[in-house]
Amino acid sequence: MTIAKRKLGVLIAMAAVILLANAATVVFWLNWIGLIPFATYLRDEYLTGTSITVIIAIMVLVPSGMACCARRCPVCDCLLSRRGKYCSECGSRVG
Ligand SMILES: [Zn+2]
Repeated sequence: MTIAKRKLGVLIAMAAVILLANAATVVFWLNWIGLIPFATYLRDEYLTGTSITVIIAIMVLVPSGMACCARRCPVCDCLLSRRGKYCSECGSRVG
């Protein structure tokens, strides 16, 4: 885990605590701007049980394509842009 990921985790944790502490205010604000009624309308009209089942089945059956292209070095966590046995940044063996 890199330092950037740890910093992002700390920021997400801080935002989650602040949101949880002000949950009632956030819910009232979301209802006031009309987001909750809009989400309820979308759920009732478009997210039926059948559509959720079809979406999950498609997500399971269709490969994402990122696994073959976006590899990362296990040592320095840099993005490997080309296939090869060694990392271009640190020289570690990756494949
Ligand atoms: Zn590396």
